[in-house]
Amino acid sequence: MNKLIIVSAPSGAGKTTLVKELMQEEELKLMFSISAASRKPRENEINGKDYHFLSVDNFKEKIKNDEFIEWEEVYNNQFYGTLKSEVKRVWNLNKNLIFDVDVKGGLNIKKTFPENSISIFIKPPSIEELKKRLQKRGTETEESFKKRIEKAKFEMTFANEFDVTITNDNLKKAIDEIKKVVGNFILKQEL
Ligand code: ADP
Ligand code: 5GP
Repeated sequence: MNKLIIVSAPSGAGKTTLVKELMQEEELKLMFSISAASRKPRENEINGKDYHFLSVDNFKEKIKNDEFIEWEEVYNNQFYGTLKSEVKRVWNLNKNLIFDVDVKGGLNIKKTFPENSISIFIKPPSIEELKKRLQKRGTETEESFKKRIEKAKFEMTFANEFDVTITNDNLKKAIDEIKKVVGNFILKQEL
């Protein structure tokens, strides 16, 4: 049976970095679930690869048409969601799906697929360190930086509801840990 790997974390905790590393492991047969998002692409992001970038109106149209497995207004007027068509696409390729979603979305996907999913929460070592990482990444305006930090504090309170928590302090250690957890989940249960 195909497996679902759900990775959630406050923005800036290092989720994208860890997911990219994990995807290098060919034996895990992972494919990234490309979400739909109504925000503008960042400079290095490609439409259809990082996200399906949609206008707010287009996103709302898809909500109305019941095209999402889950969606959230993660930030004010910024919608993100997992399209049913995306999950079908990857399952038809016989791959395991990896999701990079917000905390609520992650817990919802876990509830929808309790048997074959694992939910992983990536924790920053502290809010101070999270601030530093977001500043260093340099992708946020002052306003969106503040929004993300406020939300991060709230999201941290959900860590206990996930199957596994990984603290991303030393990057190499966190990479080893996530590879071990996901490797065990995908490979051991296939025997
Ligand atoms: P997220 O996807 O959770 O928003 P990113 O993967 O984009 O986070 O990471 C945020 C920033 O922090 C990036 O600039 C990344 O290079 C950096 N980063 C990730 N992990 C670590 C770590 N363990 N130590 C220091 N910096 C890190
Ligand atoms: P960013 O703008 O930094 O790419 O993402 C902001 C937040 O939206 C992150 O926490 C990210 O995990 C989340 N997100 C991305 N895609 C989805 C999705 O399909 N569903 C939900 N619920 N959240 C998502």
